[in-house]
Amino acid sequence: CGIVGYAGSRSAQDVVVGGLRRLEYRGYDSAGVALVTPGGLVSRKRAGKLTNLDKLLAEAPLPTAHTGIGHTRWATHGAPNDLNAHPHLDSSGRFAVVHNGIIENFAELRAELEAKGREFASETDTETVAHLLAEEIGPAGDDLAEAVRAVARRLEGAFTLVIADGEQPGLVVGARRNSPLVAGRGDGENFLASDVAAFIDYTREAVELGQDQVVAITADAISVTDFSGESVEPSTYHVDWDA
Ligand code: GLU
Repeated sequence: CGIVGYAGSRSAQDVVVGGLRRLEYRGYDSAGVALVTPGGLVSRKRAGKLTNLDKLLAEAPLPTAHTGIGHTRWATHGAPNDLNAHPHLDSSGRFAVVHNGIIENFAELRAELEAKGREFASETDTETVAHLLAEEIGPAGDDLAEAVRAVARRLEGAFTLVIADGEQPGLVVGARRNSPLVAGRGDGENFLASDVAAFIDYTREAVELGQDQVVAITADAISVTDFSGESVEPSTYHVDWDA
C-alpha cells in the first residue's frame, strides 16, 4: 500500500519509517523495512501498525545504514501476518522486495520456481519476484536494474516494486506498471515512493515515472529506462502543495 526507498547519507531506517508514517492515512495491515549494510541485507517486519514495527526495531535494533526500503501492506494474497509482511527476500537473503498491487500470474511463476527447488517462505504473490531476481542476476551480470527489467517483463498485473540488493549498498531499484511510483531528487540523496508525501520533508523535486519503466537511484543519480532497457529522459517537477 505504501512504499518508500532511500539512498543517501542519512539513517535510512529513519527516512523509510518516517516516510511510511506519512503514508499511514491510506490504511494497511503490516509494515516492514530492509536496510543494506556493508555486511549485507538486514530486515524487520511485523503485522499490525507501525508502532509494532517501532517496538520490534527497539527490541532488535538494526545496524545503521544509508540505503533502505520499506512497505506498509494491504494484504491481497496471504493473511496479514508477520511472515506475509513485506519485504520478501530470496532464499539466499540477497534481495529484498516490496510491492504494491497484484501479480496475476504468480501461481505459474511460483510453480516454475518451486520445480527448480526454490523454497517459499510466504503465501504472497510478491515473493515470486525475489526468487525470480535470484534467477536473473547471473545472466544479467551484476546489473540489478537489468535483472529487474528481465523480471518485470515476465510479470502480469499491477505492480509498484522497490528492490534492494544486499551486495550493492547505495543502490535502490524500482519498477512500475499500473501502479504509482515517484522519485524524489535531493542533494546527495534520492528517494522512491508510492506517493510524494513520503519524502516531502526532504525534497520537493519529484520525478514522475511512466508506465512500464524501471528507475535506479543512488545518492547522486536517478536513471530511468523502459522495460526493454531504452533510457528515458525523466522530467522533474516541483511539488508545491503544503504537506
Ligand atoms: N499483493 C501483495 C500482497 O498481498 C501486495 C499488497 C499491497 O499492495 O500492499 O502482499
